[in-house]
Amino acid sequence: MSRLIIVSNRVASPSQQGVRAGGLAVAMHEALDRYGGVWFGWSGETKDDATWNPRVVEAGNVTYVTVDLKTEDYQDYYINYANGTLWPLFHNQLGLIKFSRAGFDGYLRVNAKMAEALAPMIRPDDVIWVHDYHLIPFGDELRKHGINNQIGFFLHTPFPPRQLFEALPRHTVLLHSFAAYDLIGFQTDESLHAFQESVIELAHGRCYGDGAFILGDRHGHAAVFPIGIDTERFAKYARRTARSRHTTRLKESLSGRALIIGVDRLDYSKGIPNRFDAIHALLTDHPEHRNQVSFLQIAPHSRSDVTEYKVLRKELEAAVGAINGKFAEYDWTPLRYVNRAFSRLVLAGFYRAARIGLVTPLRDGMNLVAKEYVAAQDPDDPGVLVLSRFAGAANELKAALLVNPYDADDIANAIHRGLRMSLDERQMRWKHMMDVVSANTVTTWREAFLASLYETQFEKVAAVG
Ligand code: ADP
Repeated sequence: MSRLIIVSNRVASPSQQGVRAGGLAVAMHEALDRYGGVWFGWSGETKDDATWNPRVVEAGNVTYVTVDLKTEDYQDYYINYANGTLWPLFHNQLGLIKFSRAGFDGYLRVNAKMAEALAPMIRPDDVIWVHDYHLIPFGDELRKHGINNQIGFFLHTPFPPRQLFEALPRHTVLLHSFAAYDLIGFQTDESLHAFQESVIELAHGRCYGDGAFILGDRHGHAAVFPIGIDTERFAKYARRTARSRHTTRLKESLSGRALIIGVDRLDYSKGIPNRFDAIHALLTDHPEHRNQVSFLQIAPHSRSDVTEYKVLRKELEAAVGAINGKFAEYDWTPLRYVNRAFSRLVLAGFYRAARIGLVTPLRDGMNLVAKEYVAAQDPDDPGVLVLSRFAGAANELKAALLVNPYDADDIANAIHRGLRMSLDERQMRWKHMMDVVSANTVTTWREAFLASLYETQFEKVAAVG
């Protein structure tokens, strides 16, 4: 059996496996344990005197290999290009894109250096799986070192419409680097089609009905693999934690009021300001909910080095003050705003306690919070998911109340509807969604991607033979 090499911007260390680890990290650890292999990426450390010498840690069947970044590389690759250019572009936020030549050069430089660090460790029959927008040119850089192995790539974010992608300076360089991969995975049909349109319109490539594409002198496959969560484990956490200290404290603090919950990294793609507008609209247009609901928004800070995130923080702090100042009573605060992370165990209990799960990103590759909220519900008394139609999850969770996240009134009406929904309807909708998240988990996702990647290997061998 060939080894698996996973490449991602950050490497989840072997110690990050308990309740703190995300579903993706758990699924990757499991795959590496099973197949044996290497997890390679940035250590998360920045140092002025960083070298590209990899740090190697062996743990059982798995080798963790990390490199540090120089401060300047971190700034150009991670801050300026990955999170200052690609992230807003891939989330359709054209107005927030910053493009600098230094950022792009840094992005290519770090990808090249990281590939150079990994290449000597690759054995001829290893299968390589590269993750996400930070590392699009990584496969191409490996090919320059003569690596002919199967290399797959999965894009966790959306791929933008061709008209937006075209606005990216030097977009054809990036597009051509996709062609180094044997298999490219997207979260949704929409992203797959946008990619194919870019290949055809912007790079004069060809795409076929079975997902095959030809770009320049290379060919590969592109397909849709919607990511899932570790549904059973999450549901177990929620059951286990339903009467825990944290959940009990939260429930007691509600004094019988209905809980509405939002859980997101603090990111402009998550539509949090619009969500706060929706709470304002709910309390204005449906005054019967005043003093009857509590909205808890959990939003740990992220990417605080990027200017747009600092601006968003200030905007949200002002919005919370304005809403609470307007509607709060001496014994009731409508909006609770918490900027810290919680363990998955605690989150699971909070989701289960919430009558409404409010997940309204302006755009999202998938949105795992939506699936976690469903998995955490009590089958006898499930809550209602209010979900943005622009989250990848909306393709699967069709029984959620789907909303336009730009329309605060639409969100407010959906919350109102959810608060009044009968138990029968809540159960029917929840069952429909739970069937979907139980059938398509992070494990089935991983296995489907790897099976397709191995399949392209056999096709390649057959073609050569
Ligand atoms: P993104 O990957 O863009 O952050 P997702 O919704 O796909 O968005 O995934 C977010 C993950 O981070 C989920 O697994 C969620 O449980 C976790 N998460 C979000 N907020 C918190 C928090 N405050 N504490 C702990 N985990 C969180």
